[in-house]
Amino acid sequence: MIYRPYRAYDAGIFIPEMRGFPAPSTLYLLLGSNRGDRIALLQQAREQLQQQAGHIIRQSPLYESDPWGFASPDRFLNQALAMETTLEPLPLLAVIQRIETALGRRRTGSGYASRTMDIDILLYGDRIIDSPFLTVPHSRMHERAFVLRPLNDIAPEVIHPRLNQTIAALTAACSDTGKVDLIKI
Ligand code: ADP
Ligand code: MG
Repeated sequence: MIYRPYRAYDAGIFIPEMRGFPAPSTLYLLLGSNRGDRIALLQQAREQLQQQAGHIIRQSPLYESDPWGFASPDRFLNQALAMETTLEPLPLLAVIQRIETALGRRRTGSGYASRTMDIDILLYGDRIIDSPFLTVPHSRMHERAFVLRPLNDIAPEVIHPRLNQTIAALTAACSDTGKVDLIKI
């Protein structure tokens, strides 16, 4: 059983035993899948994130897009999530990679490839992180319509801390012409 102090924070309840627990941070993730039962895989990813990483507070609709950077007939389903977590960014990345592996992701070689599950950290509060394993905000998020469209549904007013612009402004300014289709399920 994972102790989740943010549930009590959400309810505005203060429990003395919570002293010393960090306040939760709000972060934004992008889920992507272009292999297997994509809708089921996205659901499993959400469930595992709730169990291992924190509390999902918003989720976008699903969007379908062509692979970016490699040719494949297998289109991606993408979804953006807002979460609250008490995990620091690097432990969060470790949890995310464990979930990708549990959902059948195999890392073969370098570069873009088909995958059952890709989970990227787009934003983590207003933090700017440049480490060998983690760049936040995600380095290419503002160039990609398949990221901005779902993120704009759940976070239009949120400010990209490196570019100092809202997600709505970045979405309006994005010149990526790749097709991104809203999926009705
Ligand atoms: P991509 O998502 O770019 O297609 P991968 O999912 O294979 O590729 O990720 C490659 C590496 O990118 C990961 O091992 C991770 O260490 C690193 N990485 C850097 N910044 C981020 C981020 N913001 N979110 C997720 N992974 C990141
Ligand atoms: Mg990734």
